[in-house]
Amino acid sequence: MASRDPASDQLVNYKKTVGQSDKLTTGHGAPIDCKTSSLTAGPRGPILLQDVTLIDELAHFDRERIPERVVHAKGAGAFGYFEVTHDITKYCKASVFSEIGKKTPIGVRFSTVGGESGSADTARDPRGFAVKFYAEDGIWDLVGNNTPIFFIRDPLFFPSFIHTQKRNPATHLKDPDMFWDFITLRPETTHQVCFLFSDRGTPDGYRFMNGYGSHTFKLVNSKNEPVYCKFHYKTDQGIKNLMADKAADLSSSDPDYSIRDLYNAISQGNFPSWTLSIQVMTFAQAEKWRWNPFDLTKVWPHSEFPLIPVGKLVLDRNPKNYFAEVEQIAFSPSHLIPGIEPSPDKMLQGRLFSYADTHRHRLGANYLQLPVNCPYRCAVKNYQRDGPQTYCNQEGAPNYFPNSFSGPTECPKAALTKFSTTGDVMRYNADDEDNFGQVTSFWKKTLKPAERERLVENIASHLKDASDFIQERALKNFSQVDAEFGKMLRAGLSKYARPGSKFATANL
Ligand code: NDP
Repeated sequence: MASRDPASDQLVNYKKTVGQSDKLTTGHGAPIDCKTSSLTAGPRGPILLQDVTLIDELAHFDRERIPERVVHAKGAGAFGYFEVTHDITKYCKASVFSEIGKKTPIGVRFSTVGGESGSADTARDPRGFAVKFYAEDGIWDLVGNNTPIFFIRDPLFFPSFIHTQKRNPATHLKDPDMFWDFITLRPETTHQVCFLFSDRGTPDGYRFMNGYGSHTFKLVNSKNEPVYCKFHYKTDQGIKNLMADKAADLSSSDPDYSIRDLYNAISQGNFPSWTLSIQVMTFAQAEKWRWNPFDLTKVWPHSEFPLIPVGKLVLDRNPKNYFAEVEQIAFSPSHLIPGIEPSPDKMLQGRLFSYADTHRHRLGANYLQLPVNCPYRCAVKNYQRDGPQTYCNQEGAPNYFPNSFSGPTECPKAALTKFSTTGDVMRYNADDEDNFGQVTSFWKKTLKPAERERLVENIASHLKDASDFIQERALKNFSQVDAEFGKMLRAGLSKYARPGSKFATANL
C-alpha cells in the first residue's frame, strides 16, 4: 500500500478525512433503510412499482451520461491562480492585469482533440489548454492549444476537418485515407501537420508543454486605444516530449497517463506553472505586414514581435469531483471581459459562436449557472429567465427591459472599441496565400537534424496506410516546404511500401 501514488489512494484519503459514514438517503433526502434488496412480493419477486428507492436509483443511473464533447472529449482539469508579474496596462485595461501582484483564480482543462473520452491521452494529437479566469468583472476564457497555429484558416472547414479524424461512418473504424486526403487537398494545413508529427506532437503529459491563445486578439487600454495581441504561456517545467514508441506503449499500458500525471503532481505539492507573455502588433503594423495577421496558420515571428512577459499561471488544486468540475467546465472564446476583444480572425469568429452553442446542447441553456462556470466573483444581473435546471433566477427583479422597477441598467463604459471595416461581401478564396514560407523556416531553422529525421519518420509511419495517390500528393506538398524534406519522406515511405505499391523500392 505504501508505494501507491496519490491518485490510487484517493479513496483511502477520503476515508481518513471524513471518518464516520453519513446516513444513506434517496435523491430527495429521505433515509434509505436497505440498499441490498429490492421490494418484492415474496422472496422470488416480482418487484413492486412502489419501490421508489429502486426506481430513483435506476432512473438516475439511466441519465448519468451527458453528450461527450465532439472534440476535446478526453481531458484533465485543475485549479489555481494567475498572478501579474509585469505591468501591461499601457496595452490592456482588463481587470486581471490591473496591477503587479494581483491574483485571479483560474480553472484549466487540458485535453486531446480527436479521440473519445476513453481514448489514450498520449496519442499524437494537438493538446487543448483552456484557461478560465474568474475575474471580478466576469469570466474570461482563453481557450488555447499547445500550438500557436491551427490546421485551417476558415471555420467552414472545421466540421469536415474533425470528421477526418473520427470514425469512418460506414465501418466505424479509423480510416487510413480520410485524414491525409483532406490534409493534402488543403496545403494550409502543412504548418500544423509538421508541428503535430514533430516531437511536440506527443507531450509528456500536460505539465511539460506550452500553451498558446493561438488566435489574434485585440487588447484595449484605459484610453480605449487598441493593439492586436497573441498570448503565449510557456511551461516553467521545461518542454518534455514522449518519443513515438514510448507514447505508443503508454497508449496501451496506461491510457490515462496524462490525467494521472497531473493529479499526482498536484497532490504531492508539485504545482505546475506557466509564464504568460504577449506579443503586440499595432494596427499600423497589421496594415503593412507581409502576412495576414489574422491567419491562424501563421505565427508572428519572435524577432519582429518579441514576447512581453505578463505573469504566471499556477495550478495548486485538483478537482474535488471530476464530473462536476472537469466534465462540466465550459470554456468559450466568447467569454471576454472589458479590455480583451476579438480580432477579425475568421477561425476565432467561428469559435465565438460554436463553443457556447455546444455548451447549450451538452449542458443546457443555464450552463453558466453551474458552480464551475458561474462568474462567482460578480453578480449576474440580466433579463434572462427560466429554462432547464434554473438555479439562480434573479428573484423578484423585473424580467423585461426597459423598466421602471430598478432592473439592471446599461454600462456604456463596457462598449467595444470602434473599428471600421470595408470590402465587398463575398466568399473570398484563401487558397493562394503563402502556405509554406513559415514551414520552411520551421524545417530549416527551428528543427535540428535529428528532429527533422523523427518528423519524417513520424509522418511516413502514419501516411504509409493511405492510398498511393494520396501519398503522392503529400510528397508534393512536403517537397514545397523543402526539396530535402520531400526526398527524405519518399525514402521513408518506400521503407513501408505495400508490395506492388508505387513506393516500393523496386518501383522508384
Ligand atoms: P524563433 O527562432 O524566434 O522561434 C522559434 C520557436 O519555435 C521557438 O521559440 C519555440 O517556440 C519553437 N520551437 C522550438 N523548437 C521547436 C520544436 N522542436 N517544435 C516546435 N516548435 C519549436 O523564430 P520565429 O519566431 O521566426 O519562428 C520560426 C518558426 O518556428 C516559425 O515559422 C514556426 O514554424 C516556429 N514557431 C514559432 C513560434 C512563434 O510564436 N514565433 C512558436 C512556435 C513555433 P516556443 O518558444 O513558443 O516554445
